[in-house]
Amino acid sequence: RRHIFQLTTGSKNINAILGGGIESMAITEVFGESRSGKTQLAHTLCVTAQLPNEAQEYQGGKVMFIDTESTFRPDRIKPIADRFELDSSGVLENILCARAYNSEQLYELLTSAGNVFHKDPGMFKLLIIDSIMAPFRVDFIGAGEMSERQTKLGLMLSKLQKMSEEYNIAVFLTNQITTDMSQPLTLLNNAEVKPIGGNVLAHATTTRMVLKRGQFQERIAKIYGSPNLEEQETKFDITLGGITD
Ligand code: ATP
Ligand code: MG
Repeated sequence: RRHIFQLTTGSKNINAILGGGIESMAITEVFGESRSGKTQLAHTLCVTAQLPNEAQEYQGGKVMFIDTESTFRPDRIKPIADRFELDSSGVLENILCARAYNSEQLYELLTSAGNVFHKDPGMFKLLIIDSIMAPFRVDFIGAGEMSERQTKLGLMLSKLQKMSEEYNIAVFLTNQITTDMSQPLTLLNNAEVKPIGGNVLAHATTTRMVLKRGQFQERIAKIYGSPNLEEQETKFDITLGGITD
């Protein structure tokens, strides 16, 4: 029998607004401005996916990290593994990292990932793409290419959805934002940040969360446009040991 499991983000506050954590058989997306903590959360999940959880009958497992912006830092893994009292070299060996330079490569990598998951069902628990839209932004520049971009994005997301369900994997995507520059400068700090990827991404993701930097280095996470979760927000922190309260 396969159980849906939830991975801890490292922050009890964030877990609470997510209804437990980052869930398997689902796609979770985080978006937010630069340095809001998206990549740090991805690194934290690389470690917590390997943490057994008896209450959930979860054994822990391997992680596939698809890097589209050269953001994966093996050095960050050790202190996070130390925090969770896991052997850091073992943790690092269980993270399979691959680099995608464009959307075509990203698609091919997902196909390979599917083959890897198929060979060893139950071995992999988490698939990360940091970030999902970066290669699309590079490959499809003009307004005339938008519909082709969204079609290709849709194909990729339906593949991700199938993979998460077929292999009981948590899919974690990071995404960038557009800021509405038409607002007066004084309002810009409080301006509503919006994810890119349009309706195609909005419909494919199960849960969306925005990360923000507030006043005095304060960091905030907020559930965004969810059909089944309250739109709560909470504070969190980034430390050497990863995401925390
Ligand atoms: P981008 O959109 O540019 O990719 P991001 O949301 O992925 O941004 P991160 O790389 O996750 O941003 O966050 C970077 C921030 O994390 C840094 O500004 C720093 O404040 C914080 N950070 C990184 N490493 C540490 C650490 N070891 N200890 C404390 N804070 C850290
Ligand atoms: Mg990043």
